[in-house]
Amino acid sequence: MRTLLLALGLALMTACAAEVKLMEVPTVSDKDLAAIDDQDWQERLGPERYRVLREQGTERPFANAYWDEKTPGVYHCAGCGSALFASADKFDSGTGWPSYTKPAADEAVGETVDRNHGMVRTEVHCARCGGHLGHMFPDGPAPTGTRYCINSASLVLQPEAAADKPSDSADAPAE
Ligand SMILES: [Zn+2]
Repeated sequence: MRTLLLALGLALMTACAAEVKLMEVPTVSDKDLAAIDDQDWQERLGPERYRVLREQGTERPFANAYWDEKTPGVYHCAGCGSALFASADKFDSGTGWPSYTKPAADEAVGETVDRNHGMVRTEVHCARCGGHLGHMFPDGPAPTGTRYCINSASLVLQPEAAADKPSDSADAPAE
């Protein structure tokens, strides 16, 4: 029993340490995802993440969590936990937003035409939950020539060292 309590305590401490950078990668089952309504998103995400992910908001450059982040790992959707971008594809675009040359997998990110603000841009969103991520531009570096300009509020970085840990949620989708 004491061993169990000790293990629980250690697990809690580890969890707290991981939350220094925003929050942990959310795990949302397909069933739960289908049932989430607008009210639920507001409660789950909090004001800033809700504004960006669900209202197509844009955060301020150079004043967001990941624009200058260099820790190796995988960037997951802050809405549903889907793996979206890899640190290996991140580059310094000088824009003040985290920028990537490509998604972690082609099917992870969807695109729409965005005609807001007097511009025609390609909006990108999480293909799984529809959460707005940012925009893509044809001025990125090799090898793709594409720049995915993404809001940090849409992302949660799972550092490489922590990526091997088994998920403690039974709801995690099998991938
Ligand atoms: Zn998502």
